[in-house]
Amino acid sequence: MSHSIIGRYAPSPSGRLHMGNIMSSLLAWLDVRSQDGKLIFRLEDLDPDRSDYDYAALMADDLQWLGLDWDEGWFPGKGTEFTQGARTHLYDEAFHLLQDKNLLYPCYCSRSQRLAASAPHPGEKRDSSCSCRYLSDRQRVELEAKGKKPAWKVIVPDEVIEFNDVHYGRQTENLMEQGDFIIRRSDGVYAYQLAVSVDDADMKISSVVRARDLMSSTFKQIWLIRILGGTIPNYAHCPLLVSEKGRKLSKREGDLNMDTLRNLYSPEQLIGHLGEMCGLLKTYRECTAGELRDLFSWDRVLKEDILINI
Ligand code: GLU
Repeated sequence: MSHSIIGRYAPSPSGRLHMGNIMSSLLAWLDVRSQDGKLIFRLEDLDPDRSDYDYAALMADDLQWLGLDWDEGWFPGKGTEFTQGARTHLYDEAFHLLQDKNLLYPCYCSRSQRLAASAPHPGEKRDSSCSCRYLSDRQRVELEAKGKKPAWKVIVPDEVIEFNDVHYGRQTENLMEQGDFIIRRSDGVYAYQLAVSVDDADMKISSVVRARDLMSSTFKQIWLIRILGGTIPNYAHCPLLVSEKGRKLSKREGDLNMDTLRNLYSPEQLIGHLGEMCGLLKTYRECTAGELRDLFSWDRVLKEDILINI
């Protein structure tokens, strides 16, 4: 059967899923299943230093335990077709396409290569001090002779990107506000922005549902997908779960993760709490994902971030 609606889970296996991650996964599932679409599980194991396949297997198990299924994609022990770690040839092609369009330059700053493979987190600001774009060929040769390996940055135009977020409405940003960004680290690992854009286009994803902290990445990804010749998906961002101090939950910190949650609740209790927290249930009750699907529409989901006690 061919599907016009295709969504995805795209977790990075850097820790156990936490309550915020499962809120986004649940909303991705509801979005696709309420439209009879197809769901893909793509494992975002770009960064070898931060990817742990024990976590990946636990993620798959946690989603299944909650009743959040998928149709195609990564299953533990079933090949690497849907893992970013095995899709480098596609990122190479995109890299060369950007290079042919004269949109890339080598960046020798050591700061800028950090974290580029992982999805950005709030507070990770761009480094505006980089002037590598203006190095002469001779300066580049000198740096290489000293053993410096460059990261690669893409040159963004002075262009306003606009999209209509399915949940938050019209969003606009000039790409220059965040500036040129890294698409390949100096150790050869492709950056999150490039890999996600290539994969969403290649897998014909029509519906990206993810947490609101990735909203600012969406402008970059829309622009990249357009250059790569793909179809731009619809984007629906979800509210964040934050602690009283305003801190976003973190996978790496182990905040309210599925290990704790599975000891405290049954799947129906946990889905009931998530349903109440995001506004789909007026009052808490035990409930399955399938029951929530019958109540689901984006205009019933809260827009404000959701405060939780941790
Ligand atoms: N892999 C990213 C993460 O786990 C999500 C990327 C996305 O949904 O675009 O934070």
